Amino acid sequence: MIDTAHSTAVLEDIQLEPQELQALIHRADTIFKAHFPQTVCFERAIFFSWGCTIGDCTFCYMSTQPKDKPPRETKRSSESILAEFIIAKQLGWDIGFFTGGIGVLKPDEQEQLLKTASEIIGEKIWLSVGPVAKPLLQKYLPYIKGVVGSTETINPELHKIVCPSKPLAPYERMFEAAKELNLKRAMTFIVGMGETHDDLKLLIDFIKKYQIHKIHIYSLIPQKGTMFENASIPTAEDQAWWIANLRIAFPELDIQCGIWEDRIAYLPLLLTSGANSFSKFRALNLFGTKLADDVEFQATLTGRSFVGTLTKLPDKTDENWNQEVDRLSLDQDMKERIRVKLFQYLNQMRKNLNQKSQPKSEIKKQGMIDELHHP
Ligand code: SF4
Repeated sequence: MIDTAHSTAVLEDIQLEPQELQALIHRADTIFKAHFPQTVCFERAIFFSWGCTIGDCTFCYMSTQPKDKPPRETKRSSESILAEFIIAKQLGWDIGFFTGGIGVLKPDEQEQLLKTASEIIGEKIWLSVGPVAKPLLQKYLPYIKGVVGSTETINPELHKIVCPSKPLAPYERMFEAAKELNLKRAMTFIVGMGETHDDLKLLIDFIKKYQIHKIHIYSLIPQKGTMFENASIPTAEDQAWWIANLRIAFPELDIQCGIWEDRIAYLPLLLTSGANSFSKFRALNLFGTKLADDVEFQATLTGRSFVGTLTKLPDKTDENWNQEVDRLSLDQDMKERIRVKLFQYLNQMRKNLNQKSQPKSEIKKQGMIDELHHP
């Protein structure tokens, strides 16, 4: 499973013999197989804005953006968000979380979107909107199953550097409030920002302390204009080490691995290391492309079956899609607006299917909202 030529440098870095890493991953794989079905699916994060009031996390694309646009003006239209929920549901994607910038949506707007989104997907949703106070969590309670804290890294010194205005303490308070309200807790961890293997103990203690149910293990995407611009991309083995260790420490933890277009080939190793499923693939823009084919192929190399699809539209007529909109408890005007957006997305996806060889430059131009970071 491990490409030894490629992994030599990694293994020197992490001071593990290849056999040690293989043994670790093998152990994690055995534990995964004993606790979960042999399936894999794509998890979609759905964004409601591309602006952020924090804006200075030193790894984040948002920290490079001009500060002159008020965050509320970066709000995505409700019809676009809800059309995406309809597509995600119909394509069998899990909803990783609903997310966007802190302070962008007013609580009533947030509540209304959560209400309709949970109606569309037929279940409650994970929410990732920064630290949320207990009274607001109570307000959202009918529609959310849990909260995601975008903790990013757990080492206190490193955290101050990478998230200077996003301390951990408010997230810790949110996790405590979530516990009291019987909401699930999830967190994020980005590999490649300067953490060391000694931080594993801190991470394990944190997961235990807040009884975390789910963790998203991403790897750094070096953004132009940030301090990580020239950083190396973490290897599959770097990311796999964290996943495997967490799987061994927490056999039932839901572990999600983030990939990116340049890391599709990481999938077999990350899944074998004990990740349940994967996220961070621009699934709307890249639906039906060769990259999407490759994602499904790599994911199933593990022997797991792929739940949902990134490559085939459901066998539905336009009338069937219209019915998905008509059944929602919304006013007619909003339904019409969702319909327009829904068919815009579907037409793009159909176009992709007709042009499997779409040039990469064209793909990149098609909008940022497909995958950003989260607050
Ligand atoms: S990481 Fe999240 S909170 Fe930090 S600047 Fe980026 S979007 Fe905002």
